Amino acid sequence: MKRSLASLDAASLDGRRALVRVDFNTPIKDGAVTDATRIIAALPTIEYLRGKGARVVLFSHLGRPKGGPEPKYSMQPVVRELERRLGAPVTFIREPLAPEAVTTTRRLPRGGVAVLENTRFFPGEEANDAELARQFAALGDLYVNDAFGSAHRAHASTEGVAHLLKPAVSGFLMEKELRYLGQALDHPTRPFVAILGGAKISGKIELIEALLPKVDEILVGGAMACTFFRAMGLETGTSLVEADKVDLARALMRKAGGKLVLPSGAVIAERLAPGVETRAVPRDRIPPGWAMYDIDHLTEQDFGARIESAGTVVWNGPMGVFETPPFDHGTLAIARALARATEHGAVTVVGGGDSAAAVAQAGLADRVTHVSTGGGASLEFLEGRALPGVAALDDA
Ligand code: ADP
Ligand code: MG
Repeated sequence: MKRSLASLDAASLDGRRALVRVDFNTPIKDGAVTDATRIIAALPTIEYLRGKGARVVLFSHLGRPKGGPEPKYSMQPVVRELERRLGAPVTFIREPLAPEAVTTTRRLPRGGVAVLENTRFFPGEEANDAELARQFAALGDLYVNDAFGSAHRAHASTEGVAHLLKPAVSGFLMEKELRYLGQALDHPTRPFVAILGGAKISGKIELIEALLPKVDEILVGGAMACTFFRAMGLETGTSLVEADKVDLARALMRKAGGKLVLPSGAVIAERLAPGVETRAVPRDRIPPGWAMYDIDHLTEQDFGARIESAGTVVWNGPMGVFETPPFDHGTLAIARALARATEHGAVTVVGGGDSAAAVAQAGLADRVTHVSTGGGASLEFLEGRALPGVAALDDA
């Protein structure tokens, strides 16, 4: 485990400048933040530091500027939104590398808050440039990383600076991610059931390989299932199948033994559109010209029962094309099964941007144990890879 913000005593916070890497990569339209979820998620760490009398200096990337300043990716709208949320003034440091920036951070009142301009306005950020990391480090007396979603990237603001500015600790959001994902992987209450779906098997091969020895079952849905169907020699019609991964799917099935559970049936259609004619068929009855867009009702019940009797559940990837009803049915059924399992005391963790969106869409985000905020980062964590932004923090 990594050293956490809560472990720091009053003396190391009072009056000190806390340089906090947050995830303020929020959607912006017409100069205003349209979804403040990520800002709200960072508030516990920010308010805690303010309450301890720290001078809080926040920094984050926003969007994908191409190696230099671009007005549409400025942090300015975030600063205004944060002021509203905090009910307190926030200083915007437009030129974080100018010598005055250091002075500005030192002159913040105790409990005061500043936000630096977008870290990706500096070419050294993504290159993890040592000089840029040193310049960031000069803006704080301690480092806090609360941006789990960026921790799989070794950037100057996530990795480089953590080696230069000590103590370097995890914020509350980061700590929560590491606790729930870590607990699921390392100390799962059994049965431990993973549910994998989504469009492609190719991005999740390492995940399957890493989970197989740890879990009791892997339930496979989404288009991923179709590549396995093909490996079984079944007709898959026009379903999304990765032809070059069929051999690999066959090898994985052999390796998994009974652990890999595939859908027994599919909801199919001739094309993907709302209101098209759909049919539910057993998996070996997908006709040519039709495609699987969701798991069928029997599979929902089968997967649902396995999920409800699990002690630990990890879910990554929707069961069907949930963006296009009625093909959201299977995904929503799985979300409800997770909520019921949670009620029975299971630890349930959702990782992956689209799966998290589906759980939110079902209104069930509060009824599972943890919805990870980091799509790519949670995937890499579950694959058992070290996240550079986490590895660089102090050990507990
Ligand atoms: P996550 O973001 O949760 O990791 P992925 O990005 O891997 O999930 O996959 C999500 C995508 O998979 C969705 O856009 C969804 O429409 C698609 N998908 C799921 N099932 C199917 C299917 N049967 N056919 C085509 N696309 C599918
Ligand atoms: Mg996705």
